[in-house]
Amino acid sequence: MGLFRGAQEFGTFIKRSKFFALVVGGTIEILPGVHWIPRINGNCYLLVDHELTLIDTGLPHHAKKILDYVTDVLHRKPSDVTTILLTHYHIDHIANAEELRRLTGAKIAAHQDDVDYIEGKQPMPRPKNLLFGLATSVMHVRPFPVDIHLQDAAVVAGCTVIHLPGHTPGSIGLLAPRQSVLFCGDTLRSPKGNLEAPSQQFSFDYEKAMQSIQRIKTLEFDVLLSGHGEPVRPQASAKVRSAFPS
Ligand SMILES: [Zn+2]
Ligand SMILES: [Zn+2]
Repeated sequence: MGLFRGAQEFGTFIKRSKFFALVVGGTIEILPGVHWIPRINGNCYLLVDHELTLIDTGLPHHAKKILDYVTDVLHRKPSDVTTILLTHYHIDHIANAEELRRLTGAKIAAHQDDVDYIEGKQPMPRPKNLLFGLATSVMHVRPFPVDIHLQDAAVVAGCTVIHLPGHTPGSIGLLAPRQSVLFCGDTLRSPKGNLEAPSQQFSFDYEKAMQSIQRIKTLEFDVLLSGHGEPVRPQASAKVRSAFPS
């Protein structure tokens, strides 16, 4: 019993140490070559190889924090960031993309069905709730051009693009087979590692978003990394199937 408790406490200590890393801004390597940049909402991830790939960029005013992670934590050059992948057009994912492109020289990639919204050719749909709608009209990002227009099944930075329309028309998942990870944007949320459907408030077409969850269920991956929440693992694809039975 004592041994068991000791093991339990040790487990808690390890978990807290990870949390400590999060608080002090240390390295958070979820898997070899997959980093989670701390203290940014929504979640930003970095694929680290010869080149660096940033997945999503968080709410406004976080460009420096993201770049500090690259230079001070990873000891890499800003120009090592060659691609910025945007899972969808919401402000908490795209806000720092333009500034980071300017600072790194990276190319920005998004699904072709979200490009017109990001580039300002289509007005961003407002959330259905009046209060959220007002907040969104105050907080906005200046439109910017997208360098790479993605389609379903395209391969970019070693990830396969999975078109998951619904939360936004061009929402995507990025399946990294080498690491067995799915970056799912906001098509699934994972507060405290628990799987949840996307916010209805902020979803363009909720029914389609739910259909996209069915598509995720056909994929195989060990770790799910969402736009909001903590990593889901191991056997994340099996967890999605049991959380969303048909
Ligand atoms: Zn989000
Ligand atoms: Zn979103």
